[in-house]
Amino acid sequence: MLNKIKDAISKFASMGISDKKAIEDLIRDIQRVLIQSDVNVKLVFELSEKMKKQIFSEKLPEGLSRKEHVINVVYNTLVEYLGKEPKEFELKPQKILLVGLFGSGKTTTTMKLGHYFHKKGLSVGVIAADIHRPAAYEQLRQNAQKVNIKFYGEKNNKDIEQIIKNGLNNLNTDIIIVDSAGRSALDKELIDELKKINKILNPDEKLLVISADIGQAAYNQAKEFSEAIGLTGIVVTKMDSSAKAGGALTASYTAKVPVRFLGTGEKPEDYEIYDPVRFVSRLLGMGDLKTLLEKAREAMNPETAMKIIEGELNFETFYDQIEAMKKMGSIQKILELIPGMGKLKIPKEMLNTQEEKMKIWKYIIDSMTPQERKDPKILNSSRIKRIAKGSGRTEEDVRELIKHFKKTKKMMKTFKGGKAFKRGPMANMFKGMKI
Ligand code: GDP
Ligand code: MG
Repeated sequence: MLNKIKDAISKFASMGISDKKAIEDLIRDIQRVLIQSDVNVKLVFELSEKMKKQIFSEKLPEGLSRKEHVINVVYNTLVEYLGKEPKEFELKPQKILLVGLFGSGKTTTTMKLGHYFHKKGLSVGVIAADIHRPAAYEQLRQNAQKVNIKFYGEKNNKDIEQIIKNGLNNLNTDIIIVDSAGRSALDKELIDELKKINKILNPDEKLLVISADIGQAAYNQAKEFSEAIGLTGIVVTKMDSSAKAGGALTASYTAKVPVRFLGTGEKPEDYEIYDPVRFVSRLLGMGDLKTLLEKAREAMNPETAMKIIEGELNFETFYDQIEAMKKMGSIQKILELIPGMGKLKIPKEMLNTQEEKMKIWKYIIDSMTPQERKDPKILNSSRIKRIAKGSGRTEEDVRELIKHFKKTKKMMKTFKGGKAFKRGPMANMFKGMKI
């Protein structure tokens, strides 16, 4: 799903025009990807209607190009249905119950979650509460050992309430995670068993573990488990091996339970705390689009940018200009995330001016006469001597600044004459940040 949405957006972003047809094509592409990845069809249409309404009937927000606006709407809509705010685990002593069907990844997630809290400096203990599968005890014991967390289990005891009680008395850790039994479906027996555990454990977090590959079945599972014992979150496992995570992810939207944790492999460290904004950004393949637009607009303010490039460079503007170029340094990274923009390089020399040097230069420039600042050509050795004395720096420092000034001036000229500013994406960017 991720790559295909990224492709659709890239295609749209790289097109010269963004007319009605191009926008409709983009939305159709996104619909297709979402449906293929098992997002509920009704929901897909709901989402695309919402996008279209915002794009076509709302006024274009000030300062945004049509294309930026479209990408922004797509981004915001996806973030909304994929969970809005991240809901991280609190780093406090707490009890966590994992539930889910057979093979969904509960035991593996128990180990991963344990690993997560352990790494954050909390003591962790796990309780083996799968009394139906004989191998379950051993699997969890070994898993716990792998990540150095405490384990409690009773191999031949079938009394689930007693096991939980004993586990709680025995472990004495900040975090207690209970790995419960699964079934191939949520039947009455399993519900009764989970209710019993729920009562004795009184967990702070009740997490449903679902595998990314179950597709649309995720929605019913989330609903049923939620009705049976109440849920505080969803864990989606096997994100690495399924392209169909859409069902599991949107189950959260429809069942109103946030996704909290993602499993991305079989090893203890193969997990991620779920963050919808980061997830969608990656999905669009553009980094954090909001930050991108804000930063780009700030640093690439066409007026500032044109001033830098067109402006006659002298010591009056030199300092400000270096500072402005430094700001563009962070933009370089962002440019790399935009299709077609990554090849544009801002000269390194311009971005590598250290803070310390900037301070020294400021003193030196302050010691120049207005005439010297306006017309650096008149700086001869007696003037240099005087400036050095006045600023409390060495003549060497002054000469270095002049050298850097000349180099920058030369670079500005090539930069200005370069193709990138006349044609191509950079030129558009200066005309108002059109992606
Ligand atoms: P349980 O029955 O719910 O306890 O499921 P398990 O934790 O035993 O996992 C079932 C299978 O899925 C095992 O082979 C795990 O190694 C595998 N598994 C669990 N989580 C992930 C994951 O995030 N990625 C991959 N690739 N495999 C996983
Ligand atoms: Mg298990």
